[in-house]
Amino acid sequence: MNAFDVIIIGFGKGGKTLAAEFAKRGRKVAIVERSDKMYGGTCINIGCIPTKTLVHQAKIASGMEDSTFEERSAFYRNAIAVKESVTSALRGKNYHNLADHPNVTVYTGVGSFVSADVVSVRTSTEEIWLTSKQIIINTGAETIIPPIEGVADNSLVYTSTSIMELTDLPRRLVIVGGGYIGLEFASMYASFGSQVTVLESYPELIAREDRDIAASVKETLEKKGIVFRMNAKVQSVKHVENRAVVVFSDSQTDEVFELEADAVLLATGRRPNTKDLNLKVAGVETDARGAIIVDEYLKTTNPNIRAVGDVKGGLQFTYISLDDYRIIREDLFGDKERKTSDRNPVAYSVFIDPPLARIGLNEDEARKQNLDVIIKKLPVMAIPRAKTLGETDGLLKAVIDKNTGKIVGCMLFAPDASEVINIVAMAMKTGQDYTFLRDFIFTHPSMSEALNDLFS
Ligand SMILES: Cc1cc2nc3c(=O)[nH]c(=O)nc-3n(C[C@H](O)[C@H](O)[C@H](O)COP(=O)(O)OP(=O)(O)OC[C@H]3O[C@@H](n4cnc5c(N)ncnc54)[C@H](O)[C@@H]3O)c2cc1C
Repeated sequence: MNAFDVIIIGFGKGGKTLAAEFAKRGRKVAIVERSDKMYGGTCINIGCIPTKTLVHQAKIASGMEDSTFEERSAFYRNAIAVKESVTSALRGKNYHNLADHPNVTVYTGVGSFVSADVVSVRTSTEEIWLTSKQIIINTGAETIIPPIEGVADNSLVYTSTSIMELTDLPRRLVIVGGGYIGLEFASMYASFGSQVTVLESYPELIAREDRDIAASVKETLEKKGIVFRMNAKVQSVKHVENRAVVVFSDSQTDEVFELEADAVLLATGRRPNTKDLNLKVAGVETDARGAIIVDEYLKTTNPNIRAVGDVKGGLQFTYISLDDYRIIREDLFGDKERKTSDRNPVAYSVFIDPPLARIGLNEDEARKQNLDVIIKKLPVMAIPRAKTLGETDGLLKAVIDKNTGKIVGCMLFAPDASEVINIVAMAMKTGQDYTFLRDFIFTHPSMSEALNDLFS
């Protein structure tokens, strides 16, 4: 049996950063990754980095209005190659950052618990047992495949992972699910030149978002040619010759529709990746959604085993997994001050075109909490920088506590929103009144200066 100071199962953001931290401090580390295509985890291989590389390429493609579909297809094929070169370079770098460290052993195989302090690794050729008194689970999340007739083994049905391997631009793309991942792909493929239809089961798009902002998002994406079918209950996907036929009903009227497509993307959510872990023998419990239960220092129900990143549920972002690393670092080697309960509010961005970014409460949520609020809105059309970019769709909205003058929420659907939201986050985190942003000296012309007008 190979003994280590720490075993990390899963090569994700939090896990790899912890591995480097432990190794730097002289600890003997084992990190277990089930796929040689996944060193570095979801973000760099099948998540943030490939999608945002393609979003950027799609933005360039959106200027090809006068091009033929064949020209757009050629551009798309090249974009997939660009994406592949970015991710493969990062994968290699991530692998060597750990594998070349004398204190780290990378095992490529599926990790699962044999007992609370023994992990089995099933590689392609053998089973190896590792032991440690300290184990960290960082196995991420995986796409949920909904129980729709005809999706299993259908070569025209894709997940967010497999569609980014598709080198032929689909003329007609149907996306099942209008959540954040679904909308990113809808916006991206519409910009590349596909005819995109989004089938959403709810009556409202992005129901958790502010209603004014959601309306602006829908209107802007519809202007790009994306068709939304709300209340859509997908019944089956047939593979007929070289095309897919998606059969869905309207859950309000029960009317049945058929839609032809060259590709169908399933974007119906992700769930924590625990199925191979054999958690029971380690005394690690999960909640009703299958997420590993942790305390605010990320200890599971077995205090010698911690969990970081998507596998523990909650917000599924790379920077949350990174912050999980900071919490464990501070708990083990620092002042133990950092914990998950101090984290809120956390900003996030959806990389549609223009991007949508948000922090804190939206108007409805603030009113439900009986807060006395001031609502500020600014159409992107009114922002000088947006005019210089020729990108005037979108809306900014802020929610301010009338009694304290503090910002309780901000929603930006605008060019550069994913950057500007971090300025608002800093103002909120450092306890500034809204007047701080209203009166701040920003450079001109910039999208951030719009915060002067939004908060005025
Ligand atoms: C399409 C898409 C776009 C996204 N875009 C963004 C974005 O723009 N910004 C953002 O912040 N977040 C984004 N995310 C979310 C982000 O990628 C995740 O939140 C983040 O990567 C989670 O990291 P993690 O540390 O939980 O583990 P992961 O990076 O998911 O790593 C888990 C690793 O564990 C491995 N593994 C699983 N089970 C086992 C096992 N039993 N044994 C061994 N290894 C195992 C997996 O192969 C994987 O490599 C996106 C996700 C997707 C799918």
